[in-house]
Amino acid sequence: MARKKSSSDLNQQIEQRTRDLGEQIWGHLERREPTMFEKRWWDDRILSWAMADESVKVQMFRFVDVLPMLRSHDSIVRHLQEYFEDVRKHLPWAARIGLELSQPNSVLGRALALNARSNARRMASRFIAGSSVEEIHYTVDRLRSENFAFTLDLLGEAVISEVEAEAYLQSYLDLISGLAPRVRKWSENVQLDWDSQGHLPRTNVSIKLSALCSQFKPTDPVGTMAVVQPRLRKLLRHAMKYDAYLHVDMEQNSYKPLTLEIFKQTLMEKEFRDFDNVGIVIQAYLPAAEQDLQDLLKWTKKRKTPIWIRLVKGAYWDYETIVSGYRNWPIPVFQQKWESDANFEKLTKVLLENHQWLRPAFGSHNLRSLAHAIAAAHELDIPPSAYEIQMLYGMGKEQAQVFAELGHRVRIYTPFGELIPGMAYLVRRLLENTSNDSFLRQSFTEHVNLETLMMNPSEHAKTATKQKPAEDDGFQNEPLTDFSLEESRTKMQAALEEVEDQFGKEYPLLINGRAIDTKATITSRNPSHKSDSLGTVSSASADDAIDAIDAARRAFPAWSRTEPQYRAEYLELIAANMRRRRFELAAWIVFECGKPWEEADGDVVEAIDFCMYYANQMRRLAHPLHCDVPGEENVYFYRPRGTVAVIAPWNFPLAILTGMTVASLVTGNTVVMKPAEQSSIVAAKLMDVIHESGIPDGVVNFLPGIGEEVGPELVGSPDVEMITFTGSRDVGLAINETASDTDTRQKMVKRVIAEMGGKNAIIVDDDADLDEAVLGVIHSAFNYAGQKCSACSRVIVLESIHDTFVSRLVEATKALKIGPAEDPGTVVGPVIDEEAQQRILEYIEIGKEEATLALACDTSDLEDEGYYIGPHIFTDVDSTCQIAQEEIFGPVLAVIKADDFDEAITIANDTPYALTAGVFSRSPAHLNKARMEIVAGNIYLNRNITGAMVERHPFGGFKMSGIGSKTGGPDYLLQFLVPVNVTENTMRRGFAPDATAEDEEE
Ligand SMILES: Cc1cc2nc3c(=O)[nH]c(=O)nc-3n(C[C@H](O)[C@H](O)[C@H](O)COP(=O)(O)OP(=O)(O)OC[C@H]3O[C@@H](n4cnc5c(N)ncnc54)[C@H](O)[C@@H]3O)c2cc1C
Repeated sequence: MARKKSSSDLNQQIEQRTRDLGEQIWGHLERREPTMFEKRWWDDRILSWAMADESVKVQMFRFVDVLPMLRSHDSIVRHLQEYFEDVRKHLPWAARIGLELSQPNSVLGRALALNARSNARRMASRFIAGSSVEEIHYTVDRLRSENFAFTLDLLGEAVISEVEAEAYLQSYLDLISGLAPRVRKWSENVQLDWDSQGHLPRTNVSIKLSALCSQFKPTDPVGTMAVVQPRLRKLLRHAMKYDAYLHVDMEQNSYKPLTLEIFKQTLMEKEFRDFDNVGIVIQAYLPAAEQDLQDLLKWTKKRKTPIWIRLVKGAYWDYETIVSGYRNWPIPVFQQKWESDANFEKLTKVLLENHQWLRPAFGSHNLRSLAHAIAAAHELDIPPSAYEIQMLYGMGKEQAQVFAELGHRVRIYTPFGELIPGMAYLVRRLLENTSNDSFLRQSFTEHVNLETLMMNPSEHAKTATKQKPAEDDGFQNEPLTDFSLEESRTKMQAALEEVEDQFGKEYPLLINGRAIDTKATITSRNPSHKSDSLGTVSSASADDAIDAIDAARRAFPAWSRTEPQYRAEYLELIAANMRRRRFELAAWIVFECGKPWEEADGDVVEAIDFCMYYANQMRRLAHPLHCDVPGEENVYFYRPRGTVAVIAPWNFPLAILTGMTVASLVTGNTVVMKPAEQSSIVAAKLMDVIHESGIPDGVVNFLPGIGEEVGPELVGSPDVEMITFTGSRDVGLAINETASDTDTRQKMVKRVIAEMGGKNAIIVDDDADLDEAVLGVIHSAFNYAGQKCSACSRVIVLESIHDTFVSRLVEATKALKIGPAEDPGTVVGPVIDEEAQQRILEYIEIGKEEATLALACDTSDLEDEGYYIGPHIFTDVDSTCQIAQEEIFGPVLAVIKADDFDEAITIANDTPYALTAGVFSRSPAHLNKARMEIVAGNIYLNRNITGAMVERHPFGGFKMSGIGSKTGGPDYLLQFLVPVNVTENTMRRGFAPDATAEDEEE
């Protein structure tokens, strides 16, 4: 009786067979003439330069990326020179001379431009099979004749409007029905047309679910599914009708849970439950992939119909690593290449062992990974027809041929599309092929020997060096909540429900630790549902203000003498309390200020950051500076100023109030905290959090009230040493004026710091990535209904791309979901109150007189519910008119045309404000010009202009946008302090202590 193989025997046999197979295939490849592994491609001089030098590679790929947008020879030559300026000395001499001699208008310049274009086209045509229907038909015929199966992928621009999503769907429908009669005519090829379970469709397409919807939003699975599912159903029906196969590609990790969910839910529907010509991708570079695979297995068994699984390592490794680093999120992908390889092999076995349910397709160009899959299948007695090998068009073609000749079904993933939308795909392939860890690069250009290439990935574990954790500089931004995780969404939903149960409560003032109920109250309303009252907050009188100032003044001596270290610890306690209550606080922000989920979460995160950052900064400032000489000791240190009146706005109800308050506290000042009327409950919650930290009575006093009533008392009081304000320009300037009027009882000239408004512009250059520019402008202009001082209210577009940009902007804006803030799908919530609504509507009327209304999103169905105004876009705007000069603080965007980049900068600078500004451009020279010449406190290049992060993006403007230094930056706390220098003569009768002795001891 045959003995069952033990798992270690099996593993050994697989290992041995893997190596034997590797050697055999390698042998085939080496004999292949004239090239192996697409030698022509590797021979390409351009790529050889790129691989030889990382700095050239970066510039090369950036140039390739911008090239399709460059319309003239001049522009190509200018960009070439700009891109390669800094890396000139790394280029081969021929290229150097070419660049140096060519002037944009010269013959050589034209030749260089033509050459660059044709090289890029050639490179693209290696990976992108064409764009027309004829080219598609020609390619699939050719692949068939070469004994390959195919799967088609239609490359497109990022889908940012519903028109584009519909067009994407339609292209696939046309593709499927167009191919059906053609492939039917092909003669039978058993290797390609049959697997162990039956006949396989000849037409095979791969789709991205995110392209079926302009608002693929992991935060809002229900809303996203409602749009994607009907389109997916249409595709599935079409595939069933025309005998086609449909494969769902996998994209970035944040889309994975929703992609899997849509896939499973749709295919479980009665209509599709028996359909087996479908599949999905699993990415082995994710440690979570095994769990996903097990879940799919369970689901498939329940469905009772198998699916295909394309196992790959994953195409977004750099993206995932960079993005999670940027957000301080755990990195979702393995960090060592061998780990991805080892996981691929582990999952290979899971697939093969369950191949009746999860039919395996191995997508790789790595000889070891593929040889292992084949060896494992062989040892498990699984015939080659039960699985397939998949490769990308233009990569490892000779390998593909060898596998096909060995009797395997090889499917080529074949992208189609125009050069511009195809660029993202092309650059991804270039990056992948030139990455140091790429199997293709190692095997061909690095000439790593076969033994190393075929090594079991787990062998690498023995030699791999452990990565050191990054140096901690003492401050780390608090991570935003990842709402693509179900757990986060559940917590947020629960917090919203819990907070709703608390509606109707009363919130007193807090003066000197005592809660005070006043007769007058402020009723807080929900701007999303104006009939909802959230609670009542005591409204302070002028007398209460005097009491609060007095309490703060009396608390000052003890607090100012509290060690900075302890004061910093209070801030850390406040931050810890906020972390613990972060969903509750975010929920209050949603209800009271109409901020959608992500924005509300961002508000809490920024508040935590302010606490942690200022605590850190104060520890730094607490060290006195010494400048001693023999006989004289000099010490420079800081003291607090006194009592600070904090006057805050409603639009960052927690973050700004917290920032201004904790900066005052940590520097040893005492505070009277006056929030905006509209966000008094969020402020009461902050007071609660501060109180929980155990801060002594009187150090922070909570004084909600009507600005006009308590404001003058706070600003004019002789006992207030400093006013820190954020809000409109008019109020800021009025505060500044009042504060400068010195009362005779005053002992100190008041300091005012004020963050005021903006009329922020984004310039869109003629070489900009329009996908990014449109999304960046929309995000900056319409998120939180444009109610941020940093929001974009002017977009200045270069004439040559103006019309294209505007039409995409308008279509993409139409797709934004307007609605109540508690709905996770909402992007544009309500404006804060009726007064704001009326003011914005007046500006819209002015705009209609001054310019052309290109888009007015309708909100009539929400009219009775809350204070809604849909995004409005005006075109043909003159840069001097009212809607281009005055701050509107709502979702109103003025589009201004500029002849060239210089004029765009002039227009951008031509307002009284200087807060934020942005540029979308891929010209290094223009980006430099923007750095030097744009007049704004925060300049953002190639990204949105809102969402400043503490420490990374210290925030604040000048001109009429602000007085004082930036929040969340290294100079901010200095404004709350007075510097003192003490000089002591230490010489007594000609004798002085050694001035350096103490330092040396330290
Ligand atoms: C037909 C086909 C379809 C595909 N479809 C998809 C898809 O839908 N979604 C998707 O995401 N990918 C997809 N891919 C995979 C992707 O596009 C790459 O081709 C693939 O990851 C390259 O792996 P390899 O095995 O060919 O090469 P190898 O050179 O062996 O592996 C390279 C891969 O290893 C991983 N890696 C690189 N460096 C590290 C590191 N330091 N630590 C850990 N891991 C690292 C990355 O995933 C990288 O791409 C597909 C691939 C094929 C062939």
